[in-house]
Parts: sequence; structure tokens; C-alpha cells
Amino acid sequence: MRVLITGAAGFLGSHLSDRFIEEGHTVVGMDNLITGSMENIAHLMGHERFGFIRQDVSNYIYVAGPVDAVLHFASPASPNDYLEYPIPTLKVGSLGTHNTLGLAKAKGARYLLASTSEVYGDPQVNPQPESYWGHVNPIGPRGVYDEAKRFAEAMTLAYQRYHGLETRIVRIFNTYGPRMRLHDGRVVPNFIYQALTGQPLTVYGDGSQTRSFQYYSDLVEGIYRLLFSDEKLPVNIGNPSEMTILQFAHAVVEIAGSDSDIVHVQPKDERITDDPKMRHPDISKARSALNWEPKVNLAEGLAETAAYFRDRV
Ligand code: UDP
Repeated sequence: MRVLITGAAGFLGSHLSDRFIEEGHTVVGMDNLITGSMENIAHLMGHERFGFIRQDVSNYIYVAGPVDAVLHFASPASPNDYLEYPIPTLKVGSLGTHNTLGLAKAKGARYLLASTSEVYGDPQVNPQPESYWGHVNPIGPRGVYDEAKRFAEAMTLAYQRYHGLETRIVRIFNTYGPRMRLHDGRVVPNFIYQALTGQPLTVYGDGSQTRSFQYYSDLVEGIYRLLFSDEKLPVNIGNPSEMTILQFAHAVVEIAGSDSDIVHVQPKDERITDDPKMRHPDISKARSALNWEPKVNLAEGLAETAAYFRDRV
């Protein structure tokens, strides 16, 4: 297959590119590099089955030749990034989704949208099944991401229903691993950086908010299976091992072998406005429809991620 991956220079896009290349496919990577980095795909440059186009998918996109699948992964994805780039975030989820769907339709390609657990907002149901409609503040700082992704899902289903396009939607829960940016502001790189440099780990608020962290390789496997499955409605892909952020801080300190303290801070900026109090994927559907479940536990995943960051601090 010849596969277009948008956001190919990002954390997930680059790992997906690797997977499709390993499976013998041809990958056209596209990125505007506002949060992506060429370092993530440097090892693929020059590969005979990999090509890269620097283009903003929120503008008109052009790809010559046949395309069999489009995977739309371009978007700022850290709360810090979407605070810094609110309008590009809205545009890539809306206009970028429309453009990539249009390309898939023109090429007769299968389409896979990277959606997010953020469509559930600050959920009032825990764990979150795909049938939950969510609890999102459209005008809060996270609204630029959450609503763009909700629009993207609606647009994708409209192309499926109206144009008969083969579409898939993955709702990605917190994912971590090598190639995250050390300073993207998310909790995993923040805590690992702090633990490796002996600085205190900054738990926002009382740390009772929960998250469920999955290692990137489990996600990539889930996405690969979803693309080739018959499941046309959204599927959660995440690790259901829920923990509080305070517990997570202790886990990072222990796994990194760090003597950092853990402190509670109350950021005064918008970073914690509408911060979801709990997040935990119900993965029954991924289990039954894709025969998928996560394999990498937190200790293994964090150790590999810390090894990657150790070279970069
Ligand atoms: N968080 C924290 N300290 C940090 C960074 C984040 O306590 O230095 C918390 C944040 O308030 C949230 C959780 O960790 O409750 C996960 O935040 P992240 O930015 O990784 O992504 P989110 O899951 O909110 O999209």
C-alpha cells in the first residue's frame, strides 16, 4: 500500500511511519513542523519507500500518484501546544480533516482519523466507553482541541455515510514513549525530565486527578489492526491501568532511580483549567473487534522512555 501519514514528523506519526515501512508499505509523510521534528524521521530519509512533503494540511494539499490509505495524525497534542497554537489546532482538526478526507475520496483511499480521549472532556462517567457523548467546555482553553476533534469525527462519519468512504476513528488515550519532546509540557516528559535532573516533580493541584498511560508501541499495534478491521465507528485505544497523578509521580521517581522530591503546585495560567479529573478507557470494544489489548507495563515503558530522555537532558 501507499500510505499518506499527516503529522509524520511527530511523536506518533513517526512511529506509525516506521511500522508501515517495516510492513513493506510505502509511506508519504507530511508535516508543517510546527510541533513535529525532522529528527524523528531522519532515519527514514533516503529510504526508497519513504518520502516527505513539508506542507500544512490545513491548506490545500496535493499528493501525486495513487494513495491507498490516509492516516490523519497532524495536530498539536499537548495542552501547552494548543494554548500556544489555538487557531492552528482548530484549523488542523477541521480544515485539515476536510482536506485529508477530500484527498482520500479523490484517491479512493481508506481513511483513519486520530481522535482523542479529549472528546469525552472532563468525563462524568468512568471508565469511558465509546458510547459516552462526553462533557466538554467548548469555550475553555482545551476547547480548541476537543471541539476540533469532535468536529473531525463528525466530518469523518459524514464522508463515510454520504460519500461511502471507508473510514476508521481511533480515540487515543494518554500515550508516551521515545520521541516525545522533552519540553512539550505534558506530564510524562515533565516528570521524567525533573526526575533525571534532580528537580522536584511538579504535581498540579492535589494530584488526585487520574490518567491511564499507554506505551506507544501498544497504540501503534491497535491502530494498525483498526485500519484493516471492519470497525467503522470510533474505538478507544488506551491502557486501562488508571492511577492518580500523585501515584504516577512516585512511580517515575522510583523507576528513574531519582532522589527528586514531589511538590504540589497550582499553576495560575490556563494549563489546568478544565483539567479532566479522571480518564480511564473502556477497551471492551478494542478487545472484541480488534483482539487487541496493551502488552507493555508502566515500568518497562517508563524505563525505555527515560533511557531516551537521558541522552537529551
Ligand atoms: N500534570 C502535572 N504536572 C505537570 C504536568 C501535568 O501534575 O508537570 C498533570 C495535569 O494537570 C493533568 C495530568 O498531569 O492532570 C496529565 O497532563 P498532560 O498535560 O500530560 O495531558 P492531559 O492528559 O491533561 O491531556
